[in-house]
Amino acid sequence: MQDDDLVAVGQFDNDIEAQQAINLLAEHGIVAQMNDDGGAFDLGIGELPAVEIIVVSSNFEKAQALLADLEVVQGETCPAWTCKCGEEVDEGFFACWSCGAEYSAE
Ligand SMILES: [Zn+2]
Repeated sequence: MQDDDLVAVGQFDNDIEAQQAINLLAEHGIVAQMNDDGGAFDLGIGELPAVEIIVVSSNFEKAQALLADLEVVQGETCPAWTCKCGEEVDEGFFACWSCGAEYSAE
């Protein structure tokens, strides 16, 4: 049994969400990557493939726990809001596209 097997730890709707997860894991010292099998984008228009991210099996449980926290955050929604920098941010975006500040309900 090898310790460096790669296992899928989560699925995301798009590359952006997958990258957020990878960044989160990286902050905790876990290297993760997208499982790009190359053929996914041949699916029909309007049917986006899920993006899988993979980690070494020895990190699987820790990664799964971290991603569980991330999914809680993603499950929330937010209305359109105006950032303190003055830019208007569209509904569903928790970070300002202009300055990167995070949404905070007031
Ligand atoms: Zn801003």
